[in-house]
Amino acid sequence: MAEIVAPTTDASPAAPAPAPTKVAYRSGQDIECWLTDMDGVLVHENHPIPGAPELIQRWVDTSRRFLVLTNNSIFTPRDLAARLRSSGLSIPEENIWTSALATAVFIKDQMPGARVYCIGEAGLTTALHEAGMILTDQDPDYVVLGETRTYSFNAITTAIRLIVGGARFIATNPDATGPSKEGVLPATGAIAALITKATGREPYTIGKPNPMMFRSAMNQIDAHSETTAMIGDRMDTDIVAGMEAGLHTVLVLSGITQQDDIATYPFRPNQVLNSVQDLLKQL
Ligand SMILES: [Mg+2]
Repeated sequence: MAEIVAPTTDASPAAPAPAPTKVAYRSGQDIECWLTDMDGVLVHENHPIPGAPELIQRWVDTSRRFLVLTNNSIFTPRDLAARLRSSGLSIPEENIWTSALATAVFIKDQMPGARVYCIGEAGLTTALHEAGMILTDQDPDYVVLGETRTYSFNAITTAIRLIVGGARFIATNPDATGPSKEGVLPATGAIAALITKATGREPYTIGKPNPMMFRSAMNQIDAHSETTAMIGDRMDTDIVAGMEAGLHTVLVLSGITQQDDIATYPFRPNQVLNSVQDLLKQL
């Protein structure tokens, strides 16, 4: 058994001073790279949130490295940029990072040239194709589930059988519902739950709040956590995942989370702002 030694006090008056501790607070000026959520931060129901167009323009004009993140895997960045432009927000397509792109990067790292059975729209199939995956229902390495508006019972049945047969199960994002004018829509998380119930297998889920989404985004723009900030409107996804990825976190109150909600969480954002309009003054 190891001998227990009582700690001794170093009586030397010339003991070296402790190394200076790292300054924890980072302000807008210290931030080199920005990640931001989209819904509730930049847009709300197809309208830009005041300050958002100016913020994006400021980042573009000052050559800031930034990415706009979305868990939605339906659209390609080009399609999404076009949709945003028509609703009054101009974001270059190379500055959009979707859970579909993050999923494609993840699989490419794990198994280059993997065979994938995919349930999803162009946003996902294009990302997987461009990352060198083979899309097939014959002996796939992975079943990848993304967002779609036309879930097919046949496709879900195929996915279930392939997973039971040994294919690995990945979902682009955990969101159970998505918004529409008529009311909520079942989203990737809800269909994943159906497949899990039938197979007994949980997916590995890439989108927020998995910090993997942020890691792949930061790699994409060569960002480092000490000098990167994450802006979001949700404590339970944007802020917790930003914190876990070691980022400076900025909560804006223009979306889901309201001021009174913040204290109910066991973690805090580094900054709370009414909206991105307030951020403009700090840049
Ligand atoms: Mg949001």
